[in-house]
Amino acid sequence: MEEIDRIRVGANNIPVYLDPQLRDEGLFAKYEENPDFPTGFRIRLVRPPKDLIGAQAYIHEILHALDESYGLELGEPGVRTYEQLLCCLFRDNPKTLNNLLKRCADS
Ligand SMILES: [Zn+2]
Repeated sequence: MEEIDRIRVGANNIPVYLDPQLRDEGLFAKYEENPDFPTGFRIRLVRPPKDLIGAQAYIHEILHALDESYGLELGEPGVRTYEQLLCCLFRDNPKTLNNLLKRCADS
């Protein structure tokens, strides 16, 4: 499994792995406990987030990480709803969101 990214969620720096074999479990992506670091978590993706489906899968797992880390109690239905809402928001407002992202990243 190849580590392709790390995503910071609160105090956690979550490794993201490319794992095509995850497809054998019928999944595109998964947020789970990291067996290499028992107190940590990881995200596995079937493919890199280079298209809409891949990006949605990655966003979905990030939302699971936020849900778990902050006790939001979104559950699978809530995560799916926010995944759809965020993808639409990103699609419909790229210029505004890029500007906001730059302001947050600069702070
Ligand atoms: Zn899910």
